[in-house]
Amino acid sequence: MNGALFLLTVNFLIAQLFCVFFVIISRRSPVPSAGRWFAGAFFVASLAAVFEVTIRYGGIDRFASFGAFSSLLVALLMIRIGLGKLYNVPTDVISITVFLALSLAVNLSIYDLPRGGLWHSLGYQLPFSIAELIAAGTVYRSGRRAAPDLTLMALLIVTAVHFASKIYFAVAFAGGSDAQSYLSSTYALVSQSLGAVLVVSTGLTLLAVIVVEIMDEAKANAEVDPLSGLFNRRAFHEKIGQILKRPVSAYPHCMLLCDLDHFKAVNDTYGHAAGDQVIQFFARMIAVNSPSGAICSRLGGEEFAIFLPSTDETTGYLFAQGLRNNFSSLSFPALPDSVRLTASFGVAVMTASSQTIADAIGRADGALYDAKKSGRNRVSRDARPNVTNFDQWQSQA
Ligand code: GH3
Ligand code: MG
Ligand code: MG
Repeated sequence: MNGALFLLTVNFLIAQLFCVFFVIISRRSPVPSAGRWFAGAFFVASLAAVFEVTIRYGGIDRFASFGAFSSLLVALLMIRIGLGKLYNVPTDVISITVFLALSLAVNLSIYDLPRGGLWHSLGYQLPFSIAELIAAGTVYRSGRRAAPDLTLMALLIVTAVHFASKIYFAVAFAGGSDAQSYLSSTYALVSQSLGAVLVVSTGLTLLAVIVVEIMDEAKANAEVDPLSGLFNRRAFHEKIGQILKRPVSAYPHCMLLCDLDHFKAVNDTYGHAAGDQVIQFFARMIAVNSPSGAICSRLGGEEFAIFLPSTDETTGYLFAQGLRNNFSSLSFPALPDSVRLTASFGVAVMTASSQTIADAIGRADGALYDAKKSGRNRVSRDARPNVTNFDQWQSQA
């Protein structure tokens, strides 16, 4: 087995392995069809190696050469389609089919041209180069610019350049006059080694893009409360923590706590499903009305929290009054038309970095308790001194 043949075997096995990886990973992916297209692409690409071996031992150059070319080109176009699914970029099937048909026709017509000649190399390599550029263009058009996306785009462009450079080198080093002598040339060895590195890198980057997507989705699911669509308690703390960690965190921040009034009675009278609908309506109302930058959360049951960054107490208080007013006028499909519900609110502010999130929630909860005690359907402010330092508190007293 010479070097080029050995590499073809390695290429075949690598392509088959990627095929298996993509089948496995596509099951967990939010876009399973993308992974399946990639799996199919690597399977078809592995056939190119089989055809190239056939060229060497089968003595059926014309058919095998056409097979090697078409399987690689089809594989690249399948990657383009998979990228379209993954990046949500539409695929122009007609253009791709026309491009494929033209490339195949050119390939058939160049077979008899001299192998080291410009026209043969151009007809053979240019379609690959164009297909890689089309794939890179798909990633570009998606507008996504995270590290794996940029890496993928760069690799696709480098691979396109690699194919284009083969046109020059094939002519410069006059690879071989027929398919068999090409395969046994040193040029084929170098070219195939580089090709294998690029294929592996592209395959790994595609896997990375899918894995990042799976992780992002898992993280989003872990952060969001499924009934209300708002952040859960853990994510609420995490998001606020991120804001407080900013180098310039513009205090004061406002913490609002809300609790639906007599909610148990809603469940008892109209059923749990009706109660769920009320929770959903309340959640949507606060999400729609909150300013951008606000962090809305369902802390549990029928209790919600809203963090308003860089907002003073008066603004937070007026905002809560608006929500209270809004909610008290809502009707619910699952409840009789005449039924209106209310909610109570507690407002507290964080004025300094020494105050913890738990402290702010505690003070807002105290205010909420006051609102409940003084009749519900109202907004209460935190009455406790807004300082954490006892000496400071004393000097203000
Ligand atoms: P208050 O005005 O004092 O807040 O009275 P309340 O009845 O609203 O308060 P309480 O804490 O006694 O009752 C809360 C109820 O919320 C009890 C519980 O069954 C209900 N609950 C908690 N989680 C859910 C949920 O996900 N769906 C529904 N439908 N009900 C829930
Ligand atoms: Mg309640
Ligand atoms: Mg409650």
